[in-house]
Amino acid sequence: MKWINRGKEVIDKVACVTEEYGNRKGIYIFGAGFFGEEMSLVLQKYGIPFKYIDNDKGKQKSGYKGNEVISLQEYMGMCDKSWIVVTASEKNTNDISIQLEREGLKENIDFFRYRYFINDIFPIISLYCYNQLFVELTQICVTERCTLRCRKCAHACHKVPKSKEDMSLEFIKKSADSFFEKFDIVREFVLIGGEPFLCKDLKASIMYIGEKYRNKMIIFSITTNGTILPDDEILNLCRRYDVTIRVSDYSESLPRLKMRYDELYKKLKQNKVIIWETDREKSWFDYGFGEIDRGIEEDQLIETFDRCRTPCREIRGSKYYYCVMARSVSENLEMNIGKQDFIDLENIKNKQELMEFQMGYSDKGYLDMCRFCRGAEAENFLIPAAEQEERVTK
Ligand code: SF4
Ligand code: SF4
Repeated sequence: MKWINRGKEVIDKVACVTEEYGNRKGIYIFGAGFFGEEMSLVLQKYGIPFKYIDNDKGKQKSGYKGNEVISLQEYMGMCDKSWIVVTASEKNTNDISIQLEREGLKENIDFFRYRYFINDIFPIISLYCYNQLFVELTQICVTERCTLRCRKCAHACHKVPKSKEDMSLEFIKKSADSFFEKFDIVREFVLIGGEPFLCKDLKASIMYIGEKYRNKMIIFSITTNGTILPDDEILNLCRRYDVTIRVSDYSESLPRLKMRYDELYKKLKQNKVIIWETDREKSWFDYGFGEIDRGIEEDQLIETFDRCRTPCREIRGSKYYYCVMARSVSENLEMNIGKQDFIDLENIKNKQELMEFQMGYSDKGYLDMCRFCRGAEAENFLIPAAEQEERVTK
């Protein structure tokens, strides 16, 4: 989306959203599961009352993680209708939306899909009702070196030489300082790579960020490919600052990693570190970097960008990138494209501007790398996860 009225771009929407939010009493999360829990953590951080709705009769009886779960019929019988946020897989979200529409509820008035709510509605509520600048996700790529060489790595880290310098501790600190000077709350702040456990300053980084900014994050996490066992000092820091370890499980493509994952999970559990266990990754979206070229028609590039809605922001020094993939792939494949596609947090005048940027507004309305990317269409181009480019060295 192109900025036309920078800083006041969503002013009409602000009036509608804040007025409607003021009339509703809390939020109902439709879907007592993984995404529902993510949503609940955000609401808890703001002290916003919530309940779950779920079609599962078992959950209606027993509740979910200590919270009440009701049926849609019970909700429909209530006089005060709070907003519903549908938190489910894409397929289930479509089914639930149909179910809600059958009851006469309207999308984006009575209920919202989670992605849209967290990226486009909640930041408005947060800024205008709580005076807090909120963003869903932001990452620091502490190193771009990796122990694996995945042929379709979304950050193109398979092309990064092992000799490449990690981000320095000073630069990691500056990145965190720049980000948290402007943003008040981030749903998830991620230290990522490459493989972050290769970063020699990881401990000092966790300590610095955890000590200064833990209360501004809902989740503080490290994403790892699981090939390196973190030492006790790192695990102690993870425990101290409630750091969640997200393990990308590639044992489907790389069965030899299975034992290493078992070992890692055991060590994390023994040390009482929070683990976000995911299923084995079977397939990835192929974004087509280095293969496709959409040309330079502005309308088409804006449409590609607007349809994509990637949630993955990145902070590097004071440069805030809308799309970590665009920055890292361009750099790591030496494409030299879109080097100015960031916003400098030092030049930001007000919170409204930054809220709009993270919603997808910019001067051009797209990133130069969108020309070479499938964006939302990538979901139709599945490839096996973590196929290796060449023999792996650990
Ligand atoms: S594990 Fe694979 S996908 Fe992840 S950073 Fe390394 S090379 Fe990229
Ligand atoms: S379409 Fe653009 S914003 Fe979306 S992933 Fe590709 S480069 Fe990033």
